[in-house]
Amino acid sequence: MHLKSLEISGFKSFAKKGSLEFKTPISAIVGPNGSGKSNIAEAFRFVLGEQSMKTLRGKRGEDLIFSGSKEERTMNRASVKVIFDNTNRFLDIDYDEVTIERIVHRDSVNQYFINKSQVRLKDISELLAGANIGASGHHIISQGEADRILSVNSKDRRGMIEEALGLKVYQFKISESEKKLTKVEENIKSVESLRREVSPHLKFLKKQVKKIEQSFELKDELKSLYKEYFKRESEYLKYQKKYIKENKFPLEEEMEKLNNELSLAKSILDREQKIDSPEENEEFLKTETQLKEIRTEKSDLSRKIGQVEGMVTFEKRRLKREEDLQSQEEERTIKFKEVKIFLEELKSQLDVYEGLSLVNKIKEIISNFVSKNSQSEKKEEIDRGELLRLEGEQKNLENEMSKLTVEEKNIISKLDELQQNIETEKDSNRKAELKIFEIKAKQSEIFAKLSSIKDLEVRIEIEDENYKKETNESFVLAGREATQFSDFEVSLEQVISENRGIQEGRRRKIEKIKIKLEDMGAGSGDDVVKEYKEVQERDEFLEREVGDLDRSASSLKELISELKEKLDNEFKEGVEKINGQFNEFFATMFGGGKAELLVVKTKKRKKKTEDALEGLGEENDYEDEVDGQEGIDVNVALPNKKTKGLQMLSGGERSLTSIALLFAMSQIKPPPFIILDETDAALDEANSRRYGDMIENLSKYSQLILITHNRETMSRAGVLYGITMGMDGVSRLLSVKLDEAIKVAK
Ligand code: ATP
Repeated sequence: MHLKSLEISGFKSFAKKGSLEFKTPISAIVGPNGSGKSNIAEAFRFVLGEQSMKTLRGKRGEDLIFSGSKEERTMNRASVKVIFDNTNRFLDIDYDEVTIERIVHRDSVNQYFINKSQVRLKDISELLAGANIGASGHHIISQGEADRILSVNSKDRRGMIEEALGLKVYQFKISESEKKLTKVEENIKSVESLRREVSPHLKFLKKQVKKIEQSFELKDELKSLYKEYFKRESEYLKYQKKYIKENKFPLEEEMEKLNNELSLAKSILDREQKIDSPEENEEFLKTETQLKEIRTEKSDLSRKIGQVEGMVTFEKRRLKREEDLQSQEEERTIKFKEVKIFLEELKSQLDVYEGLSLVNKIKEIISNFVSKNSQSEKKEEIDRGELLRLEGEQKNLENEMSKLTVEEKNIISKLDELQQNIETEKDSNRKAELKIFEIKAKQSEIFAKLSSIKDLEVRIEIEDENYKKETNESFVLAGREATQFSDFEVSLEQVISENRGIQEGRRRKIEKIKIKLEDMGAGSGDDVVKEYKEVQERDEFLEREVGDLDRSASSLKELISELKEKLDNEFKEGVEKINGQFNEFFATMFGGGKAELLVVKTKKRKKKTEDALEGLGEENDYEDEVDGQEGIDVNVALPNKKTKGLQMLSGGERSLTSIALLFAMSQIKPPPFIILDETDAALDEANSRRYGDMIENLSKYSQLILITHNRETMSRAGVLYGITMGMDGVSRLLSVKLDEAIKVAK
């Protein structure tokens, strides 16, 4: 026996706390109409979790609480406790005794307790379902509800049978699983919608990251280009700087030297030009004038000499003629004194004259001597005076001429000398000029070389400047690596021999990549990559989540279909078993006949006409529609009667049939207790006895609580509780004996 007791307090008509002990397999509750018996059955439903107010015969929660009377005040709450003996663990909870309590407050708030711990309704439902006890199950048959199993539609009947078979657990599990499935499907939808929300951003980030990856590739390309470019450039610049250094200075030195040489040459030229001009030329001209003058003088003199010579010749001819006239001239004697004077004169002349004019002087003195002596002779003989004078004059002139000739000669030689000098000077000028020309030629050659080196120097300076700028700039886009080019292999020979245009090409290529990189947006893009990774991880997480949810959805579906299959199988097996019992009980009740349950496809009833809608319709105004679900129909055949079908049964027959079916159902999976509220009301004496037999049989499997006015039924109970209600409207409980019970019941 599992049911130990029921405690009621404030529930409906039970204002005072009272309890019912169920110590025997059959307990009967008796009492007059309206004393509160059915409230006991409802107290069971209430505590087991019944949610339908209709079933509890109320509208609101407060209808369940004692409403008060003249004598008794209104209660604020109703409480019902049911206590089970759980030593055999028919309830899946590790306690020997299990108390389930439900309290309802005026504000309709319900509280549930299992062994004083507050729990959810769900916990109670789960616990009881496992023990085949439900709030509104077949094991509590309310007053007038006995034939509900016959009057409900086939679908609801199936539900009742399922519950009786203890298959509600499956239904419960199925509906739990379906709820879970719905939740999972909702989750799938929401996760998918999250993924859809993330998707455009993810796509955007993916594109960005792709760009960044491309920019990394470009950066790598840039780095290697830079390496080659910088290496070549640095080698080139080094080489050029060295070349400039080696070549510029010697050329400058050479230039300096040439400059010095040039200024020297120029100063020489200047000096010589100064010497040459104008004095030398003036003297030359003066001397030339002198020469001209001397020559004029000479020609005058020569003319004079010519005249004198002519006169001398004339004189001579005249003298000749005279001489001819004279005879031969005697030998003449010259006085010593004269000779001595002559010699003295000669001697003094010799002292006076020295050099070239001496001969002429001597000639002149001698001539004078001769002429003087001749004159003295002439005076004596012929007058030769004129001739002597003329000859003297001639000699003088000739002397003069000789002098002039000597002078002319001197002048000429001077002129020659001067000419020579001038020539020499001119020659040395020419040489100096040539030297200057040579120096200048050399200078212009050196200048050309120097200026080309200087041009190169300027160019290299600019290129060096650019190179420095470029190396600095390279950090920004390509990092330090770009300038770490020492490992790039290229020989100086390769650098020098290469056309500069190729290096320029490299530079342009670098510029192009730089522009591309700048267009892509500089910066490392770390943030974007990080965000992409995060969003991607989130998306992957969501994807996994969807996967997990899909898997759990499909495993739930699988579970649901397994449960349904199990339910279906067990249901059909159960129906088979019930049918066996049902037929037996039926035959016992009716002394024969046949009864069975049929599994059928359920039908939906649909109104055909407007009349039907207005409630005027006949049975024909309805049409049935198969809805594909399975239900249960009841087939009965009474012994010795042709009529078949439930609708042909009398009230008593119907009551007996339903009791037979309910008992059959209880036999397959006996619930711990069964409450029957005046199920026996419609039975005659004979049937009451059969009912009593069946009850006794049934009590072997389940505890029975029977609310009854039937004497036969009362006689089968081990314990009888009488319920009375006084004028105060409060139900009271009392344990009674059979005789008293019969009285109480009346
Ligand atoms: P019968 O034999 O005629 O079926 P019964 O013994 O089963 O009668 P119940 O239906 O259990 O009687 O009890 C109904 C009584 O309970 C009524 O008198 C009703 O006034 C009383 N009752 C129901 N709800 C409350 C409530 N909230 N407060 C007080 N009394 C209530």
